[in-house]
Order: sequence, then C-alpha cells, then structure tokens
Amino acid sequence: MQIDLPYILCSGKPITGTLVWYYFICKREVWLMSREITPDEDASTLDVGRAIHEIFYRRMLKEVSLEGIKIDLFKRAERAVCEVKASSKFVEAARFQLLYYLFRLKEYGVDAVGWILVPTEKRRIRVKLDAEAQQVLLKVLNEIKGIVELEHPPPPMRISYCRRCAYKEFCWA
Ligand code: SF4
Repeated sequence: MQIDLPYILCSGKPITGTLVWYYFICKREVWLMSREITPDEDASTLDVGRAIHEIFYRRMLKEVSLEGIKIDLFKRAERAVCEVKASSKFVEAARFQLLYYLFRLKEYGVDAVGWILVPTEKRRIRVKLDAEAQQVLLKVLNEIKGIVELEHPPPPMRISYCRRCAYKEFCWA
C-alpha cells in the first residue's frame, strides 16, 4: 500500500467513510474513532440506523466493500452508490461520505453517481464527484489526517449532536 495516497493515514490504514462523516459533525469524534475507542453500542442513533436498514432495504441490500469503506447499496446497472440515512439533518456530512466513496471507486475505474436515501422522509439527494467537489474532498481528507495524527483528542465541544452521540458518556460523564 502506498503511503502517499490521499486517504492513507500514517498507520497505513485508509480513512473510513465513517471518519469523513464525523469530520462534519465533531472533530473529537474523528480522533476517538480513529483510535478504535469503542463507542456505546447501545446508543439510540446506532439502533435507528440499523432498524432503517432492516425495514427498508433488507431485500434490495447489495453491499460493496473496499478497504476502509463499506457501501450500503451499489446498483450496478445504474452505476449508483446509495447511502441510507435516518434523516437529512446531516446531509452535508452524508454528501462528503458519498463523495469519498465515489472517489475511491474512481480509482478502480468506476465512474459512479451517488444518492443519499432518506426513507423516513421519502427523499433522494443526488451527489456527483466533479472537479470542484474533488478538490474540497482532498482538503477534507488532509484535515482528517491532521486530526488523527494529533497526540491528544481535540477537547469536547458541546453541540446538539452530543445528546445522541455514542461517546457522550466518555466526553461528559
Ligand atoms: S459527545 Fe459531543 S464532543 Fe464528545 S465526541 Fe460526541 S459529539 Fe463530540
């Protein structure tokens, strides 16, 4: 594996799609997840995500895994990558998570489009990796590397997401 790829961390592991998502929510969470500090698996947000998968996508689920990323649903005929979300509240985070998947697929010669699926709101949001989006994505990947390489996690900052965060006990107990 080449260390100079934009998504490879110092450890030699790739940045995950989850880290990209959390970059837009909480930088401290990026650091904690990168150290594989296990969050509270009983957190309600994780349960909601799993339930949506079960209820809406069990029959059409076709997961694709590349190193560090797991794509919820890949529609081969349409070359479409879908990411299922519980709500559109964090749509910008979801957009960059999808852009990252599209970027990684492009490496394999797959020129795909992305869709954010929000079944509870009956919404589909299209995501395209154009030159401008790729430039911003590369900057985000570089900043994630910087956070992961910090010796200590960024201090906790109270945000609305803390209430549903799997690390809330860790940060605020
Ligand atoms: S509880 Fe809040 S500060 Fe702590 S990791 Fe989660 S979102 Fe970040």
